[in-house]
Parts: sequence; C-alpha cells; structure tokens
Amino acid sequence: MADFSSLGLSDWLVQQCKQLGINKPTAVQENCMPAILQGRDCLGCAKTGSGKTAAFVLPVLQKLSEEPYGIFCLVLTPTRELAYQIAEQFRVLGKPLGLRECIIVGGMDMVSQAVELSNQPHVVVATPGRLADHIRSSNTFSMSKIQFLILDEADRLLEQGCTDFTKDLEVIMGILPAKRQTLLFSATLTDTLQELKSIAMNEPFFWESTSETRTVEELDQRYILTPEKVKDAYMVHLIQTLTDQHDDWSIIIFTNTCKNCQILTMMLREFNFPVISLHSMMKQKQRFANLAKFKASVYKILIATDVAARGLDIPTVQVVINHNTPGLPKIYIHRVGRTARAGRNGVSITLVTQYDIHLVHVIEQQTKTKLKEYPVEEKAVLKILTQVNMARRQCEIKLESTDFDEKREINKRKQLILQGKDPDLEAKRKAELEKIRSQKKKFKQKIQEQVQRQKCGQLKKKPMKRQHVKATE
Ligand code: AMP
Repeated sequence: MADFSSLGLSDWLVQQCKQLGINKPTAVQENCMPAILQGRDCLGCAKTGSGKTAAFVLPVLQKLSEEPYGIFCLVLTPTRELAYQIAEQFRVLGKPLGLRECIIVGGMDMVSQAVELSNQPHVVVATPGRLADHIRSSNTFSMSKIQFLILDEADRLLEQGCTDFTKDLEVIMGILPAKRQTLLFSATLTDTLQELKSIAMNEPFFWESTSETRTVEELDQRYILTPEKVKDAYMVHLIQTLTDQHDDWSIIIFTNTCKNCQILTMMLREFNFPVISLHSMMKQKQRFANLAKFKASVYKILIATDVAARGLDIPTVQVVINHNTPGLPKIYIHRVGRTARAGRNGVSITLVTQYDIHLVHVIEQQTKTKLKEYPVEEKAVLKILTQVNMARRQCEIKLESTDFDEKREINKRKQLILQGKDPDLEAKRKAELEKIRSQKKKFKQKIQEQVQRQKCGQLKKKPMKRQHVKATE
C-alpha cells in the first residue's frame, strides 16, 4: 500500500497528517490525490466516511503552499453544517501555512461575511445560495483567479431536489475563470455523472470505489417490521434498550419532516431521553449549537431531517435509526453513512411499515446488501404502546398551539421571494398542477380498469372456445 509521501505529498503535510492520526491513505486518497497533484480535474465516488474530504484538502494545501494567494480555492457544499466541517479540516491541516479560510453560509451575518471575503482568504467554503447572494449584491471580492473549484456532495448540488441550487450555481460559475481545476466528490455520483463531467471542463480523472456494495462492511444493517400505528412505540423501546445496554453510544434518528422532527424530540423528552434536534426550520445559530452539544456528547441522541444526512463526521455515532424508510436509496446510503466511519463499526436500524416494503427492496438492490431483521421483544413494545401514542398526541397538540406551521409557511414564502418568484402566483400554479396531476391519475386508473375488465372478459371467453372446438370434433 502507498504512503502519503509516495503519492507526491510534501513532508510538512505528511507530518501534519501524522499529528492527526492519519498515517496511511484511504483508497479514495490513494487514487485521486496523484491525479489532482498532476493538475487534472477529478470525479471521485467513494463510500461515505472514507476520507473524501482529505482527498481534496491535502492536494489543495500543497498547491497553495507553492503559490499562496487569495482567493485560491472555492469549495461548494449543500449544507451549512458541512461547510463548517470542511473548513475545519482546511484549518487544522493548513495550520503551518497560516491558512486563512472563510465560511459563507446562510443564516449568518452577511456584512461580516462580506468583510471576510474582501480580505481575500485563501479558501472559501460556501453554500451556493449565500455565495450567489454576495455575488449579486457586492463587487468587493473577486474569484476570477481561483485555481480550484470543488463541489462536495456534487450530485446533491446538481439535482433539482427540495432545495434547487442550479440558479445559484449559474451565478457562481459566471464569475469563475475557465482555466481552473475542478474536483467533484460524493458517495452517490453515478446518477448525475454526465452533468458532472460537463462541469469539469477538461477530460476529468474518474475514480469510483470498486467494491460490490455501496455501504461499508463494518455497518450492520438491520430493519424492524412494524405496523404504522406502532412505529413510535417500537422506536421508544429500541432507544430504551440501546441506551440501557450502551450508555456511551450516540444515536442519530432520521425522520422525514421538520414537524415530525420537532414532535419526536418533544415526545422523547417526555420519556427523559437526552435528545436534541436539527432541522431547517431552526435558526442557524441554534442548529450549530445543537450539533456542537451532540458532538460533545452532552446530548446522546440527535433527531434530524435529511439536512444532517450527508457528510457529517461524528466519530461517537454508533447507531443510525431511520424513523421513516427513505424513499430513495441514495438518501438511505447517506443517512446510514453517519455511522461506521473511517473503519469503525456501526449499526443502522430502519423502521419499515406495511407501506414501505417495496422501498426496502429497492434499497437492497441498489446497495447490494440484504438488510437483516433486528430482534425486538414485541410484548415489551405493546406494554408501552398506549403511553407512547398518548405522549405523541399531546406533543402534536402542544405544537399546534405554537406558530410552527405558520413559520413554515412564512419560510416557504421567503424562499420563493428570494428566488424572484411571486408566492401567490406559485401557490396558484401549484394548485393547477395538482389538479392536472389528479386528473391524469384518474384517467390512468380508468384505462387500467378498462384493460383489466377486457382481460377478464377474454379469460372467461377462452374455455368456451375450447368447448366449442371439442364439440365440433
Ligand atoms: P470524510 O469521508 O472525509 O468525512 O472522513 C471521514 C473520517 O475519516 C474523518 O474523521 C477523517 O479525519 C478520517 N480520515 C480521513 N483520512 C483518513 C486516513 N487516511 N486514515 C484514517 N482516517 C482518515
């Protein structure tokens, strides 16, 4: 196996890695770093927790040390928390250089960010929305000379999911030089591969982990089959058993909506579990504070939406619980990747209801892994069922009495205004689209019923035909 020196890394960086306990390169580092150091564009697809961040941070630092200036490198990433995590790796590894890095994310003071940008930091780590806002609103900084553009979680940045980054990316690309090195990394690059290749202008070096499975072997992947109505009771029982058996373990519970995240947090607190939450309806300062408390093990349980699904690197996380089965395999891959990182062990447990079984099959096909059943004592679950369901209902009522839904509506409207859209017009358009969709669905159903009826008719006719043939014989 290669070591960092033989990959072309300078002694000072090798020493810096050693100080952090990073002694041997991981596969993604061994394969991508020489190409990056040679000046090539790079597309790297490797499992979560396999050292992707250092695979681009180290070569950038090496090149920066040869020709230090600002702004040398721009890293784009989909979530604010990830931006902080990446900046931290730059800060720690780049300490001997006196590296100046700056983080540009939403929810934080824009004026101080503008000042930092005008001071020409070596590295800027940003979420696309806020950086595009700075570009639109000021001309106090220039990115026309950057050497490196890095898209971390590149597929998420390019897909048109609930947060669509494409418009902001267009604005950002508009101020970047054509001559640059572009590096794209993710655990799930393959879906958007062609689009990604077009962003990397020169024929990029492409490396994908060759392993059969898309999750790591150290991860024990489990499921619990539960009726929808009993799901919360299973979860409470599961957390109780896990915390009783392993009081030093940290657990992340993923759920599908901000509201659910809030309700589950309130409910688990009723049962005296040390829970804290992370979702996009919280103020950014609160998000950072909660994450810091979870990282420091002040709270052992984090309930989060998919805003925490990608990239977060918290070594103490031993268990990931999926309170809902993810609808997309790639979301599953990122969520369960929050544990079993950098060669450590971990467990993921997915709660599967009667409506989710097909989703598990798709996940198993994509990850090429068979999920095993997690044994649960059903009697113990039934004992707490009424208590848990009552607690949930009480929390729902409590939340309804706050302005949570109202805030969500206001947030949505804010986002639309920021995107230059009229919220009322958008609502009208959405309603019309919904109407067309439901009409289409009804039409499709009608056709299917007709086809079904025709088929049944033909089946009934067939034996009669045979009888007729027999009679004429
Ligand atoms: P990442 O996939 O970049 O989020 O990294 C996951 C974890 O692996 C981080 O805590 C890194 O510090 C750690 N790491 C990165 N490279 C190495 C390496 N070569 N050896 C051991 N740990 C590493």
